[in-house]
Amino acid sequence: MSRFWTDKIASLDPYVPGEQPQDKKYIKLNTNESPYSPSPNAISAMAAEVNESLRLYPDPNCMTLKTALAKNYGLAANQVFVGNGSDEVLALAFMGYFSNGKPLAFADITYSFYKVYAGLYGIEPKLIPLTDSFDIEPRDYQNLDVSGVVVTNPNAPTGKALSLSDIEVILKANSDVVVLVDEAYVDFGAQSAISLINQYPNLLVVQTLSKSRALAGIRVGYALGHLDLIEGLERLKNSFNSYPIDRIALAGATAAVEDDAYLQKICAKTMATREQSVKDLEALGFEIVPSATNFVFVTHPEKDAESIYLALKEQGILVRYFGKKPRIGNHLRITIGTEEEMAALIIALQQV
Ligand code: PMP
Repeated sequence: MSRFWTDKIASLDPYVPGEQPQDKKYIKLNTNESPYSPSPNAISAMAAEVNESLRLYPDPNCMTLKTALAKNYGLAANQVFVGNGSDEVLALAFMGYFSNGKPLAFADITYSFYKVYAGLYGIEPKLIPLTDSFDIEPRDYQNLDVSGVVVTNPNAPTGKALSLSDIEVILKANSDVVVLVDEAYVDFGAQSAISLINQYPNLLVVQTLSKSRALAGIRVGYALGHLDLIEGLERLKNSFNSYPIDRIALAGATAAVEDDAYLQKICAKTMATREQSVKDLEALGFEIVPSATNFVFVTHPEKDAESIYLALKEQGILVRYFGKKPRIGNHLRITIGTEEEMAALIIALQQV
């Protein structure tokens, strides 16, 4: 059949997410989901929402969630924007703030969705290489002449974090454009830039409930920033999909955000397991990039990453292999699972 769609769609190079196999049960260490249950309060709040009220649209302003987030972070509710996963928040920010003709700066290597959005909105990426040690070097973000900057902190898939003073260097050097700090993994040991929001009107912080709050299944992300930046995102959202969050997700997300003790508990467990896993992997000869996230980025000087990935898959363990790419082609990204899952990984690796 001949193609009936436009050249624009045909030329898109979409993001390829990590495998989500539906055929058999794997130990899933490939897409940075939490190995723990979401907060029990979130589960009951969602169950309670499954009733006749589902015939009604949800609150388009997601006020319960915005209020809970604002309270948590010491901001006003109109400094919070909510979207269907942080991917949607990022997409709207790219569309609204970065598509003005100039290139958009972000790191090479970082979250590969940024290149996809850039392609979608006709934005030229200005790739800023990481240092040899996989660091983002703030001095490389000066005198850029760009439409905006995206900083992933901690970065993915490397796991390395920047300090707040590094973020401030980037904010100051780019004060006339929006600096978006993607903090998808910040709760696992990095410092959030939220405390800088009231000082820097060009700062937009994006976070997600998919990782530290163990709610990837309900797709909720949010942005925090100066109310003008948030208002802009609201305009875009209302021109696209006024109801990004359904009633069940809204109830679950609000309860999860209100349950800070549970967040602290599961993040502490993940970080402790990460430290143990680093020791165990090092004992097997792996080199590990220091991680402030719920994953580790590893390479083995004598072994081929693809072969390790395939051998683990054979044994029912999925990790993320990115293909034969420059610099990261012999690396694997391994999500931190439960203690038992990580012990099973180490045993499997001993046989590879
Ligand atoms: N940012 C980064 C750096 C990520 O790794 C991810 C998840 N793959 C996201 C954003 C998107 O997360 P979500 O859409 O689940 O909120």
